[in-house]
Amino acid sequence: MVAKLIDGKAMAEKQRALLVEEVRGFEKATGRPPGIAVLRAGEDPASRIYVASKKRTAQSLGLNSWEHVLPEQVTQSELLGLIERLNGEEEVDGILVQLPLPKHLDTHAVLRAILPQKDVDGFHPMNAGSLFQGMPTLVPCTPLGVMKMLEEIGCGVAGKRAVVIGRSNIVGRPMAALLLNASASVVLCHSKSDVRAETLRADIVIAAVGVAGLVRGDWIREGAIVIDVGMNRGEGGKLCGDVAFEEVSQKAAWLTPVPGGVGPMTIAMLMHNTVQAAKLRCKR
Ligand code: NAP
Repeated sequence: MVAKLIDGKAMAEKQRALLVEEVRGFEKATGRPPGIAVLRAGEDPASRIYVASKKRTAQSLGLNSWEHVLPEQVTQSELLGLIERLNGEEEVDGILVQLPLPKHLDTHAVLRAILPQKDVDGFHPMNAGSLFQGMPTLVPCTPLGVMKMLEEIGCGVAGKRAVVIGRSNIVGRPMAALLLNASASVVLCHSKSDVRAETLRADIVIAAVGVAGLVRGDWIREGAIVIDVGMNRGEGGKLCGDVAFEEVSQKAAWLTPVPGGVGPMTIAMLMHNTVQAAKLRCKR
């Protein structure tokens, strides 16, 4: 079997086209576009690129966006003060703090300071708790994007055996919760798991590990769907995923490429969350 490619770029483009309509509708109804504030502390090169890309996408959709760049030495109380101010600003519907933060800052406390209704990354414990209870809420963007991708290829997950590799709060755990909420049978693997024993029985494999080429062709059942969330620097600095692409493409029915798979959908879902947050806030 040779896998069909799941084209995340094209799917993200489709999502963005749908969002432009929603943004127009919101602006017509309220007199202003939805708005997102992005906070960045320090000069981490990857964070600069991610924030610039989020800002560009927001602007291209007609959203308001504000970038707050804080010095590397910013104190916890200065950062919390800014979040408190943004929590109170009417035109700010979404607040995103770009991670990782400089080491002297308490990331959990910072994320908890964001008003849950404006937590467009879905990392606040209240939103994470709602997700785990199967309640509607703001959901982390990467796993939300993966669910949209599965939907787009016509994969109904109910009753399927899904294996998620990686248990981070950003990807693995919310991914497992979303699949469970959609009635998949879910196994959540981590560094102490016998991962191959689990993936060999899986209909859907989602790799979010951060180890280039970890998932090999002989880990995958013929005809499975494989989603590669990993973004790693391989030989010569080349961007590559957690899945050994050539090998797995001989076994899987569907496979995401890296780049051009999950990455573009993540940013599209951030915009989606911002528009949903704006709509929910204006309903109050
Ligand atoms: P993370 O916080 O470092 O978590 C990695 C997880 O992988 C941990 O749960 C760890 O297990 C597990 N793990 C490590 N080695 C393993 C192994 N050999 N076998 C099984 N599990 C193993 O990473 P993350 O933030 O979730 O990110 C994961 C990857 O996704 C990275 O490459 C990141 O760049 C990428 N990513 C991509 C996007 C996107 O938009 N495409 C978004 C976010 C992240 P333990 O818990 O036991 O340590």
